[in-house]
Amino acid sequence: MSEIALLSQVREYLAAQHGSFIHGRYQLPETGGTVAVVNPATAQPIAHVRHADDATIAAAVASSASAFRGAWADTSPYQRGVVLNRLADLMEAHSEELAQLETLCSGKSIHLSRAFEVGQSAVFLRYFAGWATKIRGETITPSFPSTAGERYTAFTRHEPVGVVAGIVPWNFSVMIGIWKIAAALTTGCTVIIKPSESTPLTLLRVAELAIEAGLPPGVLNVVNGDGACAQALIADPGVAKVSFTGSVPTGRSVGQAAMAANLTRVTLELGGKNAAALLRDVDVDLAVAGLVQTGYVHQGQVCAAPERVYVHRSRVDEVLTKVGAALRTITIGSPLDESVQFGPLATAGQFEKMCGFFELARQQGEIVHGGEILDRPGYFVQPTAVLAKRADDRLLHEETFGPLIGFLPYGDEDELPGLINDSALGLAASVWTNDLSRAMRLIPQIEAGTVWVNMHTFLDPAVPFGGMKGSGVGREFGSAFIDDYTELKSVMIRF
Ligand code: NDP
Repeated sequence: MSEIALLSQVREYLAAQHGSFIHGRYQLPETGGTVAVVNPATAQPIAHVRHADDATIAAAVASSASAFRGAWADTSPYQRGVVLNRLADLMEAHSEELAQLETLCSGKSIHLSRAFEVGQSAVFLRYFAGWATKIRGETITPSFPSTAGERYTAFTRHEPVGVVAGIVPWNFSVMIGIWKIAAALTTGCTVIIKPSESTPLTLLRVAELAIEAGLPPGVLNVVNGDGACAQALIADPGVAKVSFTGSVPTGRSVGQAAMAANLTRVTLELGGKNAAALLRDVDVDLAVAGLVQTGYVHQGQVCAAPERVYVHRSRVDEVLTKVGAALRTITIGSPLDESVQFGPLATAGQFEKMCGFFELARQQGEIVHGGEILDRPGYFVQPTAVLAKRADDRLLHEETFGPLIGFLPYGDEDELPGLINDSALGLAASVWTNDLSRAMRLIPQIEAGTVWVNMHTFLDPAVPFGGMKGSGVGREFGSAFIDDYTELKSVMIRF
């Protein structure tokens, strides 16, 4: 097992001074504190970033507002699509550099960084680029009575809302940033991204590539900082919309702050406690392979990952035996090692939180596999599966956002809607069965924004994604995003 060699441009980039990216160039805020970026595989600092101060945030909003009224407003829909496509090309051309940077900051395996943070980001960019020329209103014939021979017609226009603030978590900081950037830019908005302070570097580099792709200065700005920086951005009256992805408690406070600021529009993509239901006739090999792949990828730090699995009592021994066997084969180690499947947790906070869940698992359940930390530098823990004792165990209700799946047997399939919906959250769920009729009857009863059948965590740019209940407000992707990034204007004409 050995690590890949870091590119020289990655080493140089890490050694440089970092801050924010405003109006087409890097800026080092004058009074913001400097914060270390820590490599979770070693727990050592690898770079330093100056956080945005109030003046920097105000400058970012002013820059985005002027670009919205000026350069970007004058850019045709076709041209907007061309620039987004060029950015996709440039990200692919710089794939290895971006992937290495992201792996160093987040602990994500280098394969995942290449395939998702860069590869899928390019796919999303190209999908959204296609929308630029397809956003349209409708024509309507009003029913007003004509008193003197006059006629009426009406039409609607989708007009960009203006400056969007995109607040992004650390788990897929590039790809989730791109979801917000692409949705904003294709509808004609300008955007300011606030990455997580844990993963601040790669989007800075993407912003630089966007200028190379032909994006006018100010159309995409990046401000680095912590929660206070995000709150200052939300409070700025120049921000017309906030698009937030992150945890449920922070999402609530973001929503309240946006309302208080200026009734600012807000979309919230929040956490989940996603259920998987294995029916009596389940194909166990298919289900175990799918759940192990999607439950432990990126160390389980995926919002839609399955965290609680309900298994028909007749199949539970077989399922747990196969899950345990699959977890034993997972290779753990440096995310820069191409032979490794499972790296460190992303932050010290995540590590502490998982230690707490392991303790809870020992008290409340029976550990099928894992439940230990690794004796090495960095934030390494084992992929863990637990057999829970009761449906109300905390393990089946609190989002772990880590590599721990809780399993619970059930006896009758009529219990499944109650078990699955017994959560304050409703992001995603999956049903595993060979009987499509049973699946189709179950789907309408499940309170989740996405339901997968015989698969889990597949996000496609054409398929809307978002949460029910406490998992959020609004939908990304498909055509669903258009209403969130545009104002609908009605025009009525008498002739
Ligand atoms: P957080 O809510 O802690 O942070 C998300 C972003 O908000 C970060 O940029 C963070 O900055 C910022 N932030 C922190 N405090 C505040 C505040 N008071 N006001 C405004 N912004 C703030 O979430 P995590 O980064 O820990 O991400 C994990 C969570 O995100 C999980 O619950 C996961 O389920 C959810 N998620 C949801 C997805 C979805 O599409 N539904 C996708 C991915 C993740 P900083 O990090 O610098 O503190």
